[in-house]
Amino acid sequence: MPVTEDLLNIIACPACKGRLEPDPGGGALICAACSLRFPVRDGIPLLVADQAQPLEPPPECVPVEKGAKTP
Ligand SMILES: [Zn+2]
Repeated sequence: MPVTEDLLNIIACPACKGRLEPDPGGGALICAACSLRFPVRDGIPLLVADQAQPLEPPPECVPVEKGAKTP
């Protein structure tokens, strides 16, 4: 059961209160601002930090080098 547009207008990211977008692959909602992915189970979005998964950006889109500089 897909998440409807009506539902998307009601719910928001629990972290930033921003708008959530449906995952193109289905079964999840995505907050682009937080780079978090919230699973949807039985049509019900699990909007809790416990269930959020970090989005992994494509390698070519990673602008920061981790650990490049250590003061
Ligand atoms: Zn967010």
